[in-house]
Amino acid sequence: MIRIGLVGVGKIAHDQHIPAIAGDPRFDLVAAASRSKPDLGGIPVFHDIETMLKDGPDLDAIALCTPPQARRETALAALRASKHVFLEKPPGATVSEVAELATVAREHGVVLFTSWHSRFAAGVSRAKAWLGSRKVRKLSIEWREDVRRWHPGQTWIWQAGGMGVFDPAINALSILTEIMPAEVFVTDAWLQVPENVQSPIAGRVEMTTVAGAEITADLDFLQTGPQTWDITAWTDDGVLKLSLGGAGLEIDGVAVEVGENREYLGLYDRFAGLIERSESEVDVRPLALVADTFLVGTRESVEPFIE
Ligand code: NAP
Repeated sequence: MIRIGLVGVGKIAHDQHIPAIAGDPRFDLVAAASRSKPDLGGIPVFHDIETMLKDGPDLDAIALCTPPQARRETALAALRASKHVFLEKPPGATVSEVAELATVAREHGVVLFTSWHSRFAAGVSRAKAWLGSRKVRKLSIEWREDVRRWHPGQTWIWQAGGMGVFDPAINALSILTEIMPAEVFVTDAWLQVPENVQSPIAGRVEMTTVAGAEITADLDFLQTGPQTWDITAWTDDGVLKLSLGGAGLEIDGVAVEVGENREYLGLYDRFAGLIERSESEVDVRPLALVADTFLVGTRESVEPFIE
């Protein structure tokens, strides 16, 4: 039994982590840390990770569900206390801090897991297998959602390090880097940043591979009505479309049966396996694509964002 603590009990902890941990018999949620001290029905909740580590029950592992800007210090505290660490996406506010965490995990003989939940969406492994034997000529990502619907009150998203529209778009980039048979790199980008915040509300990213695949990502945080989380790949042997954030799959216009979407159950299954094998899984490629986008992107100031 892996005794686990949660840090940052907000939307994703409530919606996904707590049910997924409850659904996996290898884990036991024994403590949490969140400044607002939510009621978790008998599970002790501490103000912060330091107090949880000092006064709480013994822990083997900690899942960090705080925003990226608050990740490094808590991750370091967990690793230095020799706990296995599950990092929500994105694994950090910077690419380089994740290398630091990987080093500290190694020094303390514990597992570091940079989780990317969208890679566990039902259609992704089939898409990867299908694309693996084909040549991708063109790939388009369309990730358009309504920030007011999915991220109410999450002011951290708009602050430096919060990534704005790249908070959801990094999920598309995590699928892209999983399913593409070749490494992807950014060639150009355009970002629209509301004049009253620090992070983009919309954007377009152009990417390619060594073989010259044309890859684009069109991103919008203001789409009302139907929401779009689609990736379409045109290959030398057919067209593949992942929809619903990777939960739906079509090949040449025909729906493929991919089963139930079990993203967070899949993540905790992977984490348990890594702990059993004493093996870390650290992948910063989606975060590096966002960092490169921010490095080369042309910025346009647009009207203020008022929630
Ligand atoms: P959230 O609802 O704002 O919850 C984050 C929690 O972290 C807060 O409730 C807060 O709890 C705690 N926290 C600690 N330090 C903080 C700080 N400096 N600023 C703000 N909160 C702080 O956010 P979330 O949606 O759960 O997202 C958390 C992480 O999960 C993000 O990295 C996000 O990308 C990822 N994620 C979110 C979703 C989603 O659908 N929302 C999906 C997948 C992944 P206390 O105030 O009680 O300390």
